[in-house]
Amino acid sequence: MLLSVHTLTGMAVGHLIGGEVPTGVVFLAGWASHYILDAIPHSEQPFGKEETIDEKWRIWQYPRRVFFFALSDSLLAAALLLIFCFFTGKLDGPIFWGGVGAMLPDLIDNVPFWSRSTRHTAIIGLQYRWHRFFHVGSWQERWPRYARLLTQAVVAILALWVLL
Ligand SMILES: [Zn+2]
Repeated sequence: MLLSVHTLTGMAVGHLIGGEVPTGVVFLAGWASHYILDAIPHSEQPFGKEETIDEKWRIWQYPRRVFFFALSDSLLAAALLLIFCFFTGKLDGPIFWGGVGAMLPDLIDNVPFWSRSTRHTAIIGLQYRWHRFFHVGSWQERWPRYARLLTQAVVAILALWVLL
């Protein structure tokens, strides 16, 4: 799913369970929400032709549209996290830690500046394979793209509804 949808969901999880459980549990619950959302059919490319991301692409080989959309999505995710933390007055509260936990699997595995080398290490390699496992590609790809965009819109609206 889009990083912004993951982040909103992790923040909503933090908002729901924060105060009841320790911060470490909020962080892990945000992290776990990432895998659950990735198992739901989704598209990471709302516009134009849907490209299959080649794991061997270098940063300059990405289609420009894919690169700029991923960058905008990442900036939006960071902005959402900061805006909500700012307005709730808690910069290191459960909303922050839930959101950060939900962002991390993609930040670890999908940022080509470091993920190509770190995924060959034992622990991050394990996290990478586990993360990939939840995408269940062929099953998800059978869904039309509008449906895979709708699933994300529904998740984002639910998360916003919890947060607002
Ligand atoms: Zn992911």
